[in-house]
Amino acid sequence: EERNPNELEFQQAVKEVLHSLVPVLVKNPTYIKQAILDRIVEPERFISFRVPWVDDNGNVKVNRGYRVQFNSAIGPYKGGLRFHPSVNTSIVKFLGFEQIFKNSLTGQPIGGAKGGSDFDPKGKSDMEIMRFCQSFMTELSKHIGPDTDVPAGDIGVGAREIGYMFGQYKKLKGAYEAGILTGKGIGYGGSLGRKEATGYGLVYFVEEMLKDKDLSFSASTVVVSGSGNVSIYAMEKAMQLGAKVVACSDSSGYIYDPNGINLDTIKQLKEVENKRIYEYVKVHPDSTFKVGCAGIWSVPCDIALPCATQNELDKEAAVMLVENEVKAVGEGANMPSTQEAIDVFIENNVLFAPAKAANAGGVAVSALEMAQNSARLAWTEAEVDEKLQIIMKDIYSKSVKASSEYGVEGNIVVGANIAGFVRVADAMIEQGVI
Ligand code: NDP
Repeated sequence: EERNPNELEFQQAVKEVLHSLVPVLVKNPTYIKQAILDRIVEPERFISFRVPWVDDNGNVKVNRGYRVQFNSAIGPYKGGLRFHPSVNTSIVKFLGFEQIFKNSLTGQPIGGAKGGSDFDPKGKSDMEIMRFCQSFMTELSKHIGPDTDVPAGDIGVGAREIGYMFGQYKKLKGAYEAGILTGKGIGYGGSLGRKEATGYGLVYFVEEMLKDKDLSFSASTVVVSGSGNVSIYAMEKAMQLGAKVVACSDSSGYIYDPNGINLDTIKQLKEVENKRIYEYVKVHPDSTFKVGCAGIWSVPCDIALPCATQNELDKEAAVMLVENEVKAVGEGANMPSTQEAIDVFIENNVLFAPAKAANAGGVAVSALEMAQNSARLAWTEAEVDEKLQIIMKDIYSKSVKASSEYGVEGNIVVGANIAGFVRVADAMIEQGVI
């Protein structure tokens, strides 16, 4: 707290991890002797830069860009770019820190990073988005590369933005390096299945956790917050497994559809027309829209999947979910539940899948995209999906195994942190004090 005052989200993420590592440190004092904790909370590099661009009326605008290259012990830096007005040093560092452990859990050779800008894509024209992305990449290009740092998308950064950034990098470097970004369009080096990977992976992970208690998505009622990339494909996979998804949201509010959400309408509104979620009720008159996104947690459900943003599910929301007899919560977004909310779930024996483990499917398939780019080949959607399922099952069993090895049987929050940490810590020790 003294070293990073005002970085509240970063402090929250670090505290959560450090608390859960106590049993590991007791068992392995080498980690203390080697000052692994002091080293792992300090980014290897933090880059902040000016992003000037010109709007459609000829006005010059300035935003701030960031890239935190947090840890490269097990592979090149890897993590998404977020374009949202709330982006600041604390948000970028919390996301980059979490990414270290998530990437480690995937078993793939990828280090931890994150970046983005306080640029607000809402209401901007396509040409404004393009000019912003080009300016952002003009600086970022000095710091990335297929073997050094490979960014991807996150909130506000999808295939369109990745395309514009890729084009600018190619122009600046005068070379076609497919492996500098992931989440690319399928026609120029993107991987089939990447768009769906985080949402699908989340549902695969939660299904594995439910199976252990003889439960399933089949015939369950599900609530999914958000209506972006992660949310849409979590809804799709949950529906494919036989669940009824009754509510989803955006930052203006949430919709409830007693007949089950119609995903084609959501995709049309969000992926094609860039419209607000309340437009849904015009097409489906049985559904209702309520202002304010936190209200979504008052909708009774068996399984809740927070897939929008950090700290969107607080203690009050957790209590409501428990009162409505929720059986499982799976985090699709990064750090969507506050620590107090997690405590409520654990105390009430609600099955809880933490983000680091449960939403790792996206970055795992990004690593598969890198592998395909290096080999200059493309796998089928079925091949990618099969690998994703294997990875998510493996993360689940690794987390459960670590929880029993360190005396917190079944606590996947602690198990995932430990399993992710040990791989990185051991690599740091083997590579010396650098
Ligand atoms: P998108 O931009 O596609 O969607 C984000 C969704 O969340 C939108 O519905 C958005 O509503 C809503 N939202 C964003 N910010 C807020 C806010 N401050 N309050 C309420 N709602 C908000 O992003 P993604 O789906 O890619 O990302 C969602 C989460 O998942 C993030 O936490 C991200 O870090 C995490 N994640 C994403 C991965 C990926 O592969 N994309 C991988 C792993 C994690 P609105 O449109 O109104 O802003």
